[in-house]
Amino acid sequence: MKILVANLGSTSLKYRLFDCSGNEENLLARGGFERVNDYAEAVNSCLKELMDAGHITGEKDLAAVGFKPVIARGVTGCVRMDERVLTAMEAYRKMAPAHNPPYIDGVRLFTKRMPSTPMIGLFETSFYQWAPEAAVRYAVPQDWYEEGVRRWGFHGASHKYIAERSAELLGRSDVAERVRMLYVNQGTTPVKEPNLRVVSCHLGGSSSLTAILNGVAICNSLGMSPQSGLPQNNRVGDLDSFAIPFMMRQKGLSLEQIEPALCKEAGLKGLSGGYNDMREITEQASRGNKNAQLAIDVLVWQARHWLGACILQMNGVDAIAFTAGIAENNPQLRAQICENLDNLGIKLDEQKNAVTKSNSEVEISTVDSNVKIFVIPTNEELVIAREVKRFLLN
Ligand code: ADP
Repeated sequence: MKILVANLGSTSLKYRLFDCSGNEENLLARGGFERVNDYAEAVNSCLKELMDAGHITGEKDLAAVGFKPVIARGVTGCVRMDERVLTAMEAYRKMAPAHNPPYIDGVRLFTKRMPSTPMIGLFETSFYQWAPEAAVRYAVPQDWYEEGVRRWGFHGASHKYIAERSAELLGRSDVAERVRMLYVNQGTTPVKEPNLRVVSCHLGGSSSLTAILNGVAICNSLGMSPQSGLPQNNRVGDLDSFAIPFMMRQKGLSLEQIEPALCKEAGLKGLSGGYNDMREITEQASRGNKNAQLAIDVLVWQARHWLGACILQMNGVDAIAFTAGIAENNPQLRAQICENLDNLGIKLDEQKNAVTKSNSEVEISTVDSNVKIFVIPTNEELVIAREVKRFLLN
């Protein structure tokens, strides 16, 4: 069973092809295209690459194409990406302006090119369906909640991978197996024992922290939209809601002016004075650019803020895992986040932390740290391929 997992950006298409026959989970190919102008052409090129390499003879060899859509009105879990679901994503287009439009367009292009191949999406919100209600509700009137104004949580595929892999690294195959078998469309019963508490720190173009209790997410720092939580690359993160009417009145701004300010010009980019890539920001900070240093400091402060919240809700923590582009590649940032936490039993080994290699799993805590600290490259695509397979077999 060959499953193509496609990651759709506004100007990029990344893909991985898995063979999930029987008990296999083999990655057959990976690739992608940046600065895409013609998306239909990129879809064709993706299939051509797979055929040229001999992985498939045509699209008929693909059991499905898997996606990780962000949010849709009234839809979560693992679903067929039909017109009903795409219309529900349209309804929340403005909630995720950087994410929903490329997914809606991209899925339509894949469907047009391969009309008889199932298109299946694992929504990024799915991993939070077991979070307690108190963790997901905002204190808004009931009719706001009914419109979807609540904490949804995102990065579900990434945090689910970390839930499983961290349990394996901690020698807890029981919890790892539970996560692996956790099928998002099927529900689960919370397990009180055995207790395993992990905080997953996904820090990348988008960032979020998740508290994972016994393999299941109980909260996520991202809220209703991808503009929430920690400061994102160019998206604002958490903000007092009254800042918006205040600034609209203060500067005579319209909603059309406010929205792009919050989702294109804010976050790390807004703080640093125009840099939205952490490599540039660290480079600028090392040259004495104070705004760039401030962007780093705010990200660290917010990450520690959520780390503390996650630890408190679980009455402690057994492991902290760092994943995604920034957390995997920036030892300095990891050190800042873990600084001065020895009273909580969290001790980073500076030497181990400094010598991490790209794309490799490593433990970076000291031998006497009560809490294990790991760098774990995430594998969202594998989580999607597994869910797609289960969807097809169910
Ligand atoms: P996304 O998938 O959300 O677009 P990534 O997980 O790829 O994002 O993370 C992008 C961020 O990670 C950028 O800020 C980038 O600077 C940083 N990053 C990626 N690779 C490296 C690297 N090799 N060294 C330092 N930072 C990196």
